[in-house]
Amino acid sequence: PRTPFIAGNWKMNLDHLQAVAFVQKLHWTLKDAGHEQGRVEVGVFPPFTDLRTVQTLLDADKIPFALGAQDLSTHDSGAYTGEVSGAFLAKLDARYVIIGHSERREYHAEGDDVVAAKVQAALKHGLVPVICVGETLEQREESGPTAVSVAQLQAALANVPADADFVVAYEPVWAIGTGQVASPEQAQEVCAALRGVIAQTLGEDAAARTRVLYGGSVKAANIASFMREPDVDGALVGGASLVVDEFASIIRYQK
Ligand code: 13P
Repeated sequence: PRTPFIAGNWKMNLDHLQAVAFVQKLHWTLKDAGHEQGRVEVGVFPPFTDLRTVQTLLDADKIPFALGAQDLSTHDSGAYTGEVSGAFLAKLDARYVIIGHSERREYHAEGDDVVAAKVQAALKHGLVPVICVGETLEQREESGPTAVSVAQLQAALANVPADADFVVAYEPVWAIGTGQVASPEQAQEVCAALRGVIAQTLGEDAAARTRVLYGGSVKAANIASFMREPDVDGALVGGASLVVDEFASIIRYQK
């Protein structure tokens, strides 16, 4: 059985002071609601400049959220102005790192080769990559619902060992930040195909153990419908992860 994972990708929102207020409020909102810890893994993915502050807070107040970064460099260190090494993230007790988000693929021209190199960099430093894949509307019309995501994941998993710990997030580009959410059936279809890719490349054990998330306009009102699907193990949440009550409700979903 896979522990559901509800992950908040803050994108470029909340500075480190706002982050403290937000994380404390989220924690207390869940506590007040009697949320059962451990039923769901909760992850927060703040901007780089917040990581140290949020890590200190999680540690000091024993808040059971996992910490993740939104990107990392393919390099370990050196003359790469503006880049952040996976080694630094690991030192900050970041557990996860998002790789291949469509916003990075689009605005920073990150192709499958860069994504694969970042997956290797993350694993090298003991970070768990959250590998994002997903098609545009045009691509869906041209090559069907699964082809683009399957190809992106195959590329990302090249040279990944069978026992590697990673997460996959299916985020159809047309559903990100648009309010045009995929149907649970659409999410299930692609998430099942992605689990198939894991089975083919790394084996059945890896496929059974690895969490595959859906992302794209996830809200409190639609999370349960996704979580009822057998191959959807959680959600990567953007906009709704920035609103305490909304994100708490997503975490507290009931099937
Ligand atoms: P929204 O939830 O705002 O659609 O964003 C999804 C996303 O890109 C998460 O990584």
